[in-house]
Amino acid sequence: MSEVIPGFYVVQGKYVEDFGLITSYLVVDNGEALVIDPGTDGSPGTATVGALRSLGIDPKRGVLGILCTHGHPDHVGGALRLKRVIDAPVMIHSDDAEILEMPEKFINNRLVLDAPSRFAMKFTQSPLRVNYTGMRPDHILHDGDEIRVGQLSIKTIHTGGHSSGHCVFYESTQGVLFSGDEANNLSNTPHSFYVDLSGNLSAKINALERLRQLRPQYLLPSHDTPYLFENVRLQIDLVKDSAINFMDAVLGFIEARREADLTQILYDVVHSHTFFIPKIIEFVLPTIIIVAIRTLQKAGLVIEGRGGVWRYTG
Ligand SMILES: [Zn+2]
Repeated sequence: MSEVIPGFYVVQGKYVEDFGLITSYLVVDNGEALVIDPGTDGSPGTATVGALRSLGIDPKRGVLGILCTHGHPDHVGGALRLKRVIDAPVMIHSDDAEILEMPEKFINNRLVLDAPSRFAMKFTQSPLRVNYTGMRPDHILHDGDEIRVGQLSIKTIHTGGHSSGHCVFYESTQGVLFSGDEANNLSNTPHSFYVDLSGNLSAKINALERLRQLRPQYLLPSHDTPYLFENVRLQIDLVKDSAINFMDAVLGFIEARREADLTQILYDVVHSHTFFIPKIIEFVLPTIIIVAIRTLQKAGLVIEGRGGVWRYTG
């Protein structure tokens, strides 16, 4: 655990190859605390409890809430386990409450996966696995909700890009933005702008623009290290540009083939070298390609033909 800004602590969990570190945060003021993102089943949850104790916070009484940016297993798989120890309400937006309660629905409804990847999500990709016990949230978050901790107020902003229920949390006096997976520090790979089937690339691009307008001083993402240096807006722009470039590339591949199915577009994305695609994130590509196509479809740039092909309309 380390204090990144006075009263704001980072607790880092396992390092998961190209997913980076799984990160939780603590906001502490006047003997009260909030947990932002419980993490996976055990990581960094166990360290979170130790961190609270070392800050003089009674884990049983001093924690006002466990806030979840969204319902993906690498950030909330450990919610129930943590709640059993610290006994604080788990809070999430209604659109992600279902996968917190029924984790299986994440792989069934929100990802486009082949059988081996489906299997891997259940058993082998450890922190990303979904075979943990789900839980019903104690509190549903809404856009605009203010959550108090000591003298501080943390505002909920529903962004809904990365997943339909994704929220970010903002402390305005110091400009601290808990950006979840909406804007992270991962390198310029499809994982940095990843959107599940419930999410939406145009919502994400709009959300990033909205976050940029807040002029945050500190970006605290749910993967890897906090972005505490240089210009936070630059980092937000980088994620936004990556998402736009990805959609442009997908449109370009469909245009070049005149019509294409998912297998062909996936082949083009992997072989074009437009994006650096680490092996570990290949399984998320079909999902984000589909989400990109849906966005292009909505903009009238591609139409869906019969038999799972998309056609360029230009
Ligand atoms: Zn996520």
